[in-house]
Amino acid sequence: MTDRPGWPGAGRNPGRVLAVIAMGLAAVALAVSACSGAGTAAAGAASGASQPSGQPASPLATPDIPGVPGQASHGTSPASPATGPAAAPLAGKIIGIDPGHNGGNFTDPGAIARLIWNGTAWETCDTTGTTTDGGYPEAQFTFNVARYLRADLRRDGARVVMTRTSNNGVGPCVDRRAQIINDAHANVAVDIHADGGPASGRGFTVLEPVADGPNDAVITTSQRFGGDVRQAMLAGTAMPVSDYTGVDGIMPRDDLAGLNLTTVPKVLVECGNMRNATDAGLLVTARFQQQVASALAAAIARFLG
Ligand code: ZN
Repeated sequence: MTDRPGWPGAGRNPGRVLAVIAMGLAAVALAVSACSGAGTAAAGAASGASQPSGQPASPLATPDIPGVPGQASHGTSPASPATGPAAAPLAGKIIGIDPGHNGGNFTDPGAIARLIWNGTAWETCDTTGTTTDGGYPEAQFTFNVARYLRADLRRDGARVVMTRTSNNGVGPCVDRRAQIINDAHANVAVDIHADGGPASGRGFTVLEPVADGPNDAVITTSQRFGGDVRQAMLAGTAMPVSDYTGVDGIMPRDDLAGLNLTTVPKVLVECGNMRNATDAGLLVTARFQQQVASALAAAIARFLG
């Protein structure tokens, strides 16, 4: 979830705001644009359902059997079929994955309410993210998808950089998440979220950066990647494009650190609306989470191909 200014959560921590102003830093619009605290109380409670019990099953884990027809397609090195050039289409590529929020954010409201500069305005470090009405946390969803995606990409030979590697910590802040991926010089990156929109609204949205200086060089490529992500989500998942925000599944955003500060091609995907019962029914399942990961992997492969 990535709140618009004025949504719940805006205006938090007025003491911090006054302190910032008093320090003589630039006068700014205090448009808090991170996700709201909706679901804060429940965010850590209901993380058990449908989370992956390990890495997704890999077809490459099936042992080769000498003499069985069809084995020749695995090449000459059946013991390590993923290491050959033909089996590693992303060899040499670096992919950034930012799973939104963190499962422990609700334990340290002071830390996640700290204000960071997102390139155009002050934004909170992070939020707890949203939940489904049943209490399934966005942070768990984003982390599950990220792990499935990491497995898919590694299987294709990529090096993967994730902004967090557990779901029981706090942060990192959204500006730091951008920096981690920038420092890795990723070839492409994706921020994974799920929205907390109106209960009547369905669908996914791809958020694309707007030129603001730091990201100027990656606007066109990010837009191309965004188109690839949109197509892959439609082809590979049951989630429709959003019927309540954006235009045909695409929305430019100039108020998010992850997009404002990026120096690598990047989009943020709101994979569905956790507050909508139909979308939520998909979002909490391992099957849908794996489908999203596969769709993102396909979009990455297409973009880099
Ligand atoms: Zn979010």
